[in-house]
Amino acid sequence: MPLPRRLSRELAERDGEAVRIAGHLEEYRALGGVAFALVRDGSGTTQVTLKKGTTEPALFTTLEGLARESVVEVEGTVQRSAKSRRGVELLPFRVTPLSVAEVPLPLGVVDKVSADLNTRLDHRVLDLRKPAVRAIFELRAELLAALRTAFVQRGFLEIETPKLLRQGAEGGATLFAVDYFGTKAYLAQSPQLYKQMLIGAGFERVFEIAPVFRAEPSDTVRHVTELTMLDGEIGYVTDPEEIRAVLEGIVVDAVEGTRKALAARGSPLSERFPTIVQPFPRIPFDQAESWLGRPGAGRDFSTEEEKAIGERVERELHAPFYFLTDYPTVVKQSTFYAWRRDDDPSKTGYFDLGYRGLEIASGGRREHRYDRLLENIRGAGLDPASFPGYLEAFRFGMPPHGGWGLGIDRLVQALAELPNIREGRLFPRDRYRLEP
Ligand code: ATP
Ligand code: MG
Repeated sequence: MPLPRRLSRELAERDGEAVRIAGHLEEYRALGGVAFALVRDGSGTTQVTLKKGTTEPALFTTLEGLARESVVEVEGTVQRSAKSRRGVELLPFRVTPLSVAEVPLPLGVVDKVSADLNTRLDHRVLDLRKPAVRAIFELRAELLAALRTAFVQRGFLEIETPKLLRQGAEGGATLFAVDYFGTKAYLAQSPQLYKQMLIGAGFERVFEIAPVFRAEPSDTVRHVTELTMLDGEIGYVTDPEEIRAVLEGIVVDAVEGTRKALAARGSPLSERFPTIVQPFPRIPFDQAESWLGRPGAGRDFSTEEEKAIGERVERELHAPFYFLTDYPTVVKQSTFYAWRRDDDPSKTGYFDLGYRGLEIASGGRREHRYDRLLENIRGAGLDPASFPGYLEAFRFGMPPHGGWGLGIDRLVQALAELPNIREGRLFPRDRYRLEP
């Protein structure tokens, strides 16, 4: 019977016990009469201490000859030690290499000098061994869990819609075409049409957390081609403010839930979380345009303009999160499913959720009236005949409804303060990257 395997973090409670640990050999250092091996597992790093005269000589030879980052198993006795990292060290009596790493490493795991992002992503498995990098994915996982909780508490049903489609939600520019048994299909760029159809099916409150694909030709720090979208859709809402209120509540609960979960894990990332100010300021599109000195320009904000708006909100209202509201119809022309206000058809009632100048989500009330929807589709230069399944949902009783799409990767980027969105995805995809 082998000894039970213990994690580095558990050893402090096992003083005097014989245990087995396993992990990557981070470092081996010999200093005269003693040598230290650092073995890193999923919970942290253990110091293995070899002493001349006490430790069997063969163990020195084995560890000394083993390349850094090899996987090794060590059996030994736990001993309290004020000088080592976790207050314990392991005095080994057996060392077994399990997998020998090649030399040299294409990317250092503990090097102080940091590699550029491309090199890191080229050798992502080694990069992900760094505790600071793994911490981002712990944040991501806690955020997803907290979001699910926030939705379920509000009576939302989790759904999964198709990712292989006959047509996209908003025409062609950012669609990936795939060969589907000899005919053309597309990868979903949004679950938009299907979540609306489920409102037509009477589901009332639905959410989905799933990948979407966008053929973004632009190479920016906030676009990837495969992203995770969080979609929410709510039936029987007519006022966009009701939709914003639900989204705001979910974001606040999820951010606070993530902060707490990370603090409990001892993650350093929780300390850098923003102080949320509620209610999130609502900045009408017109007002943001006059802030920028371009009233009535009637086009969407550029990246620089979004940044300027975010800075002003933070400076004057001290709020990291805010809504940009009342998007004009001209800006949302291609968004055919967006409702146009009855009293003022030049406005859609659409909104964006921003975080310090970064667009996190877009949403609004949808058009649920069949005849108006047909007009909007034609107005966007599209043919209603391309959407038979979608339109059927509107012909046999569709509740008024609205919702949003939120980019999880942008929210992770914001909360973990990542300069580049790619750092928040395990194996990011962009225009130039399909490997690893
Ligand atoms: P942007 O103008 O920033 O390109 P968008 O308005 O085209 O975004 P939407 O269609 O509104 O994007 O999608 C909803 C959300 O999905 C966005 O607010 C954003 O958080 C996220 N998102 C959209 N495209 C991407 C992308 N290529 N990479 C990462 N996140 C994205
Ligand atoms: Mg948008």
